[in-house]
Amino acid sequence: MKVLVVGSGGREHAICYAFSRSPRLTKLYCANGNAGIASVAECVAIRPDDIQALADFASANAVNLTFVGGETSLALGIVDEFTARGLRVIGPTQAAAQLESSKAFAKDFMARHEIPTAKYAVAHSVDRAKLMLEGGDFGSESSPVVVKADGLAAGKGVVVAQNRSEAVAACDEMGSLVGETAAEKIVLEECLVGREVSLLAFVDGENFALMPPVRDHKRIGEGDIGPNTGGMGTITDSSLLSPLQTDEIVRTIIRPTLRGCVRDNIPFRGILFLGLMMTGDGPKVLEYNVRFGDPETQAIIVRLNTDLIDICEAMLSAKLNELNIDWQPGASACVVLASEGYPAKPRTGDKIIGLDKASSREKVVVFHAGTSFNSERSHVTAGGRVLCVTSARADLQTALNSAYAAVSDISWPGMQYRRDIGR
Ligand code: AMP
Repeated sequence: MKVLVVGSGGREHAICYAFSRSPRLTKLYCANGNAGIASVAECVAIRPDDIQALADFASANAVNLTFVGGETSLALGIVDEFTARGLRVIGPTQAAAQLESSKAFAKDFMARHEIPTAKYAVAHSVDRAKLMLEGGDFGSESSPVVVKADGLAAGKGVVVAQNRSEAVAACDEMGSLVGETAAEKIVLEECLVGREVSLLAFVDGENFALMPPVRDHKRIGEGDIGPNTGGMGTITDSSLLSPLQTDEIVRTIIRPTLRGCVRDNIPFRGILFLGLMMTGDGPKVLEYNVRFGDPETQAIIVRLNTDLIDICEAMLSAKLNELNIDWQPGASACVVLASEGYPAKPRTGDKIIGLDKASSREKVVVFHAGTSFNSERSHVTAGGRVLCVTSARADLQTALNSAYAAVSDISWPGMQYRRDIGR
């Protein structure tokens, strides 16, 4: 099996790592990869948004299976293009990817199929959103309102405003925050209260297989303070969701979502990611993503025992129900190491010390998010999030200890990380 992975971050390193462990793999490519991915795959210099070039590459190199890491390629229709050319690819079609690429689409979908989520209103311009708020059509003077840009915004398009005037200000700033296209429509939402958790599933159109529940830490600072980031760490642990809660999510959210996709003629195949709020009224959907999360994937993949190629083939042949997917029992932790200045202005080019020592620790995998080589072939930082130090162990505390011990091996000037992941 010749496999191509599309993307270049820690998530794609984890996906490549999983494929690299398959006895069925003969060749692994990653477009465009990074210095860590280069240790398990041949990196190919094609950007994830260059769909035609990716399809040309897959055809020319007789790639048997392509796995799409991120939402950009999916929203651009990579799956439709590959499928039209007879190339096997894992991910939803462009139409189904709207569950992520348009928050208004996702909210209308949930309303249509009675899937529990926050009350909402869609405004077809920033001005209309402000009128709705100021005219009292949505929310009240003193209650919190969540303001969301409709389009893809790399995690920057959501503001939890504490009152109406903050919400109006958030509308005004949305365009400059995420770009005019993503903010063409605005979704206003009731603010939900509860514990957040994410649940991902492999989906083949009809059948699904759940992954271990996962929690991320979005803020840069310990104690959840400071600006939002792409994610500073994640854990998987059975304590995140009880079997009863999981059953409720399957019954009220996952099954209706897959059924809704079939009814709307956008059958979903790929990775379905539910961002959930566990409220007093039961689980509610905060967002759908239509691909693996980053850094959720890193913590999930280190527990996957089953061959990822087998899982992909079961997804392609709609036989996920016949495959038993095996997870390493226990828990896992992923600690993100970021460069100085992240998230506002990350500095790059710093030489990374201690990678080999950290990677040689038992039950530790160091995934690269943003690294490259300098002229002496040493690893240097090449992005905001640089490394994801990940460990799967018998319980959460041991996994955290093991990840943090490996973190202490690694350094570069200005390296920052949170010491409270999993707490
Ligand atoms: P999203 O990208 O839609 O998941 O939003 C990002 C983050 O904003 C979530 O992880 C929540 O912390 C928060 N959030 C989004 N929607 C809501 C909501 N309706 N109520 C409360 N918090 C929310």
